[in-house]
Amino acid sequence: MNAIAEAIIAEPARDGLARPLRDLRLSVIDQCNFRCTYCMPREVFDSNYRFLQASERLSFEQMLKLVRAFVALGVEKVRITGGEPLLRRGLETFIERLAAITTLRGAPLDIALTTNGSLLAARARGLRDAGLSRVTVSLDALDDAIFRRMSDVDMPVARILDGIEKAQAVGLAPVKVNAVIERGVNDSQILPLVRQFMNSDIAVRFIEFMDVGGAAGWSNSTVLTARDMRAIVESEFPLIAVDDSDGSATSVNYRIANGQGTVGFIASVSQPFCGKCSRARVSADGQLYTCLFATQGADLKPWLGETTSSEQLIDAINTRWHTRDDHYSELNADRRRSGQRKTWPTVRMSLVGG
Ligand code: SAM
Ligand code: SF4
Ligand code: SF4
Repeated sequence: MNAIAEAIIAEPARDGLARPLRDLRLSVIDQCNFRCTYCMPREVFDSNYRFLQASERLSFEQMLKLVRAFVALGVEKVRITGGEPLLRRGLETFIERLAAITTLRGAPLDIALTTNGSLLAARARGLRDAGLSRVTVSLDALDDAIFRRMSDVDMPVARILDGIEKAQAVGLAPVKVNAVIERGVNDSQILPLVRQFMNSDIAVRFIEFMDVGGAAGWSNSTVLTARDMRAIVESEFPLIAVDDSDGSATSVNYRIANGQGTVGFIASVSQPFCGKCSRARVSADGQLYTCLFATQGADLKPWLGETTSSEQLIDAINTRWHTRDDHYSELNADRRRSGQRKTWPTVRMSLVGG
């Protein structure tokens, strides 16, 4: 390992609040085959909605240059997301090339994928063979009617469960299942989801509904807090706290007493974790967002061409990270306490990837 790499590992790029740059979330497409009501409501994302043209999306070549630059700054984990990332043609080839990148420590890059699971069953083996390490599947309900209502697609839950099973079977493990809980919409699904996965190695994580771009129906009263979700789980399954935090982890995890399963809660709204937020997000059109609640990104495209050196790109990312002082969830918590709602239009989750 060279001296620069050693220095970056020991002292990675720090932002204005001294948070290191550790993780990259890379959105590969802004389109999706679902219309989750809290993310891509059909009345907004209709046939007139202007999605990115293929020519506006970063090419895989540009994304590879980008990932190498983040890795040079100390990033060790990349999460591929979207929209629905499995809709991006050629994704397996891209992952194969990503998997050839080693971190500054000389270890393989940790490559994860977040998906709605609808296309996973047929793709799991190919993704694993390409070098994908892990997969997180979003599944908000086990009940078909509730699932259909929330995802706004005519698809049985069984198809997503099949995808989860195949991913686990080929070794894209441990699979994690994420469920966004909206009060009065799918809180009835918390216990069924725990029961479904409790005797497997699959961890279920319940996420508080956030007031991010796309979440048109959000209001304070639609948020079921992590504390309330945990009380629901504990009404049937006593939980034991697990200390498995890696410092920047977003979920607080528990083991089910007398069971095999793990349950986690992501309290983005009620107990913001901005203080340890080490994630950079890059949208499918090459904008660097340093927060989910940002309105605007920093355009990295000018540094992704063949004529621009990697050093210039690294410098541009580093400079942006150094000036970062985002802590919007903390600010929002203060605003909510005084009865206000945020009023600015944040970047859409489907563009930046959650
Ligand atoms: N389509 C893929 C999926 O659904 O897993 C990847 C992209 S999606 C934007 C990533 C994650 O963002 C999903 O787990 C989704 O549930 C979450 N998400 C979207 N809108 C949200 C909101 N308003 N509050 C909390 N989580 C949200
Ligand atoms: Fe698509 Fe994921 Fe958004 Fe649902 S949450 S609409 S699956 S991008
Ligand atoms: Fe990170 Fe922004 Fe979320 Fe805070 S609000 S945890 S800074 S993405």
